[in-house]
Amino acid sequence: MAGRIRILPEVLANKIAAGEVVERPAAVVKELVENSLDAGAREITVEIEAGGRRLIRVIDDGTGMSREDALLSLERHATSKLKTDADLGAITTLGFRGEALPSIASVSRVTLATRSADTVEGTEIYTEGGRIVSVKAHGMAVGTEIQVRNIFFNTPARLKFMRSAETEAGHVGDLLARLAISRPDVRFSYICDGRSQFRLNPGTLVDRVAALLGTEASNGLTPLESAAGEMKLHGLVSRPELTRSTASAIYTFINGRFIRDKVVQHAIMQAYRGVLEKGRYPVLTLFIDLPVSEVDVNVHPTKHEVRFREQGSVHDEIRNAVASLLSKAPWLEIRRQPLRGEPSSAQPRPQEQRIETVREALSRYASTGHPQQPSGFNFPLSASSRISSVHAEEERKHDDEPAATGGGYYSSLSILGQFNAMYILCQSGPDLVLIDQHAAHERIAFQQLREQYASEAVESQGLLFPETIDLSFAEAASLKQNEQELKRLGFDVEPFGGSTFAVKGVPRLVANLDYLRTLRDILVDLGQISRSSSAEEIADDMLARIACHSVVRGVRHLSLQEMRELLKQMDQSDFAATCPHGRPVLARITLGEIEKMFRRTVTTRVN
Ligand code: ADP
Ligand code: MG
Repeated sequence: MAGRIRILPEVLANKIAAGEVVERPAAVVKELVENSLDAGAREITVEIEAGGRRLIRVIDDGTGMSREDALLSLERHATSKLKTDADLGAITTLGFRGEALPSIASVSRVTLATRSADTVEGTEIYTEGGRIVSVKAHGMAVGTEIQVRNIFFNTPARLKFMRSAETEAGHVGDLLARLAISRPDVRFSYICDGRSQFRLNPGTLVDRVAALLGTEASNGLTPLESAAGEMKLHGLVSRPELTRSTASAIYTFINGRFIRDKVVQHAIMQAYRGVLEKGRYPVLTLFIDLPVSEVDVNVHPTKHEVRFREQGSVHDEIRNAVASLLSKAPWLEIRRQPLRGEPSSAQPRPQEQRIETVREALSRYASTGHPQQPSGFNFPLSASSRISSVHAEEERKHDDEPAATGGGYYSSLSILGQFNAMYILCQSGPDLVLIDQHAAHERIAFQQLREQYASEAVESQGLLFPETIDLSFAEAASLKQNEQELKRLGFDVEPFGGSTFAVKGVPRLVANLDYLRTLRDILVDLGQISRSSSAEEIADDMLARIACHSVVRGVRHLSLQEMRELLKQMDQSDFAATCPHGRPVLARITLGEIEKMFRRTVTTRVN
């Protein structure tokens, strides 16, 4: 009986490999542009149509190929970059696997035109689904031009995974931004559906980053330079108040290759600990240069992950270098001032805080006309005390009694006071209940927004002076795709040329806060939402962002009246026990737990 195992036909093997290498148009652009850089190009032009689905064209002025090499380049495992086993331990080129061109060719229609300096005419090869259809002479300058048409025409399953043209074009733009940052000495142009997206002249790293990230990010870039043993670091660090909700603006390169590595990112985030708010990411560019023998880039076909031989020391060096720069950078002084939109009372000094507390107590005293004696409790109003103001409720309800007002659980709580100007302390039956006032505010804002959104009545506030915002390609793509929804949310945004947009109106809830950051975070979220999400889920996500940004962080003193109002509103909110992001609003410490703390055995009750 004949054996059942067969070697796969070449074309089929390439198609399978394509699954790993060519997941979307941006991946094709990456492979082609990396080939151009490996070929020593000084100028690279990338053009796409219909998000890359109709056409991807990459033109370079690199070394080009002879006819023989051009034919070979379309064969699997054909590469000019690796010759021996030993070379694998010392890779200095971006490519080396020799599988990109045959993989791309196997799932599209490719025209490869190329000419090397030692020939007078070039060669043009046309392939369909990996099969060579024609080879002919072609007059052209030295260099290479590759056109990829009808990607995935023969793999319908892949085609289904393609997102909209805007989204795919956004991915290509972001990918090109990374490559362009990695090589500021090379001229890059990007054309999308006949319109120029950018043209970057050769220059310094600062010029390049400034051109790509926009004026907001380029303002206050501080260079980082450090060397430890065989490892060298250099890059640009932005002001810490410039943050993102994802790691998308952290550009890290190892030996010139863009990577997204957990160890490196962890080191950077550790350096920023205490400088950034939780959940925020910095804007930063970092080049790590290591002897090639110290790092393995051959971990994954996309080469985004790497393996370090000395992981621990690489991590610590990066963290130390970034942390030491942050500790002495010039903008630290600026940072101590309140950020835009944050009321200056967000972080009052202890003394101001005390004055505020006393003033508040006095005003209450004056308005009620009779002294309020905190019954049973008498906490000193000292600045050193962590309890900043505690007021017992005048008519403390009897614990066992249901809420006299009948307003629901939150209204039934007896307010004891405010802790650290961040938590509301309450008594519920025999238990102590702590309410996170930020989480509660956020929940209420979310609920109101959701109702307004449903009835198309989110309040928008026009800006007297429109503000501009520079968006990345992916962010701009999200904006275009969700124009209607954003309008309904209260954002009035118009194109302002290139990657800049003019913001003319914003949701009223964030009108006095950092609405540009709110907008950017929403756009980043939208780019990440999976296609299977329902419109409602997407809307909820955006509303949660606005709600989250509408709440002023930091300490905030609340009067008894305000606390009561907050609790009342909580009763009118769905899912009142969590904030829209799922953090709890409320924590309960039972009398039993408290007695255990004090090693008491007898249960006593306050009446
Ligand atoms: P790899 O880059 O891993 O070697 P590829 O399949 O991407 O594999 O390319 C195969 C070979 O084709 C390369 O090694 C290189 O010799 C040649 N090649 C590809 N693109 C270009 C280009 N733009 N200019 C010059 N040579 C190229
Ligand atoms: Mg390659």
